[in-house]
Amino acid sequence: MKKDNRCDLIVIGGGLAGCEAAWQAANRNLKIKLFEMRPSLMTGAHETGNLAELVCSNSLGSNLIDRASGLLKEELRICGSLLMKAAEKSKIPAGNALAVDRNSFSQFVESELASHPNIEIIREEVKIIPEQIPVILASGPLTSKDLSESIQSITGKENLFFYDAIAPVITYDSINFKTAYKASRYGKGNASEGDYINCPFTKEEYYQFAEALRTAERIALHSFEGEIDQGVNAGKESYFEGCLPVEVLANRNPDALAFGPMRPVGLIDPRTNKRPYAVIQLRQDNLAGSLYNIVGFQTNLKQQEQNRVFHMIPGLENAVFERYGQMHRNTYIASPGLINEFLQLTNDQRIFFAGQLSGVEGYVGNIASGLAAGINASALIHQQPLVRFPDKTMIGALLHYISHAEKKHFQPMKANFGILPPLDDPSRSKQDRGQQYSARSLETIRKLILP
Ligand SMILES: Cc1cc2nc3c(=O)[nH]c(=O)nc-3n(C[C@H](O)[C@H](O)[C@H](O)COP(=O)(O)OP(=O)(O)OC[C@H]3O[C@@H](n4cnc5c(N)ncnc54)[C@H](O)[C@@H]3O)c2cc1C
Repeated sequence: MKKDNRCDLIVIGGGLAGCEAAWQAANRNLKIKLFEMRPSLMTGAHETGNLAELVCSNSLGSNLIDRASGLLKEELRICGSLLMKAAEKSKIPAGNALAVDRNSFSQFVESELASHPNIEIIREEVKIIPEQIPVILASGPLTSKDLSESIQSITGKENLFFYDAIAPVITYDSINFKTAYKASRYGKGNASEGDYINCPFTKEEYYQFAEALRTAERIALHSFEGEIDQGVNAGKESYFEGCLPVEVLANRNPDALAFGPMRPVGLIDPRTNKRPYAVIQLRQDNLAGSLYNIVGFQTNLKQQEQNRVFHMIPGLENAVFERYGQMHRNTYIASPGLINEFLQLTNDQRIFFAGQLSGVEGYVGNIASGLAAGINASALIHQQPLVRFPDKTMIGALLHYISHAEKKHFQPMKANFGILPPLDDPSRSKQDRGQQYSARSLETIRKLILP
């Protein structure tokens, strides 16, 4: 069928959120131009030019409706999600999880979009946010350099982040308990011994360690992150302030760690009966208790440097690393206050954000935000009231969270029962509570009338 050249809405990014958004809007009688830069310009994670490529795992998480992720999927099915249909068509056996054949999944989405009379797929990088026409920005965690700069120009530099960092994980058996001790701050917590393992520092040990951290070699962050390449303290605004790599903290001020992740308050060392000068805490990382992560110690040091510097920690002289700390690209906006629960930019309501870029985490959450953005952009264009997904639904709770959470500590959020309003009469059993949340959410979403 010949497609005319009218364009009511531009969707940037043919990933999970963008494909869902384009589909929803096209089904509401709008002409869509969907821009996808691959395959001519690839990201560091995608391997194909396929639309809706799953970049890593082929699992969309639990399919049980009394689990948060399963509930979100069911809500999406009720709302007519294309990508949930694609997942159903391409699913492979995976117990209670919904896993898919990634090629069939992408192919189904691509053929539905390509054959839709209202959708034109354009294989091109968008470098600047289009003016005048309504637009959905769904370019994902690996948004291209030029477009990121254009996004920064509307959000402000301080509101667009490029990196998440993760802390190292070590094995329990390799911890030296002649020095390390179990305790929770001020004796709080569940276990009688304390929930944390603490590694105490003398003043001298602390400053030696902080200096070693500050001067250790880091992994260079390349090309588009160029501003970060230019020395230890350059480009610090590209990190999320609530999740700074420890070497960046140490470089800002030698005392910063002692007042931050290494603060010793409430952690008396039972061997000296005194408060250490500084403390590094380890928190259980797996159910079996065989792995512990170093709390607040996200880092981008080279692996051999992590080996050298973290072995200076009293009690971790022989620590075995199960996973080294690392940084990974994750472009997202500080959404609270910047966008509303309709996913519109508050100071330019023609611009919608969807997907990981909007501060939602995980495949299915990103699909959900695409669905909501597509529906609401359509309502805006048709001059209808925008759809407020009720807070009692998982879709509504996610949108409410990303637009209203405390900005200072904002991190991308995935579906979980903790963001739903409390139950009136919660069961004591976790499983029953899951069913209660789920029943309430599904009853609510079934009553929602979508335009
Ligand atoms: C390496 C990595 C692994 C991940 N693994 C998982 C996982 O296993 N499970 C999970 O639940 N979540 C995972 N995530 C998080 C997230 O769920 C996925 O990244 C998800 O694909 C995000 O959906 P999206 O629609 O926001 O972005 P994407 O699916 O990445 O779609 C964005 C699209 O926009 C395109 N694009 C970018 N810039 C432009 C531009 N300027 N012009 C035109 N097109 C552009 C990109 O090529 C891409 O196709 C992972 C993230 C990363 C980075």
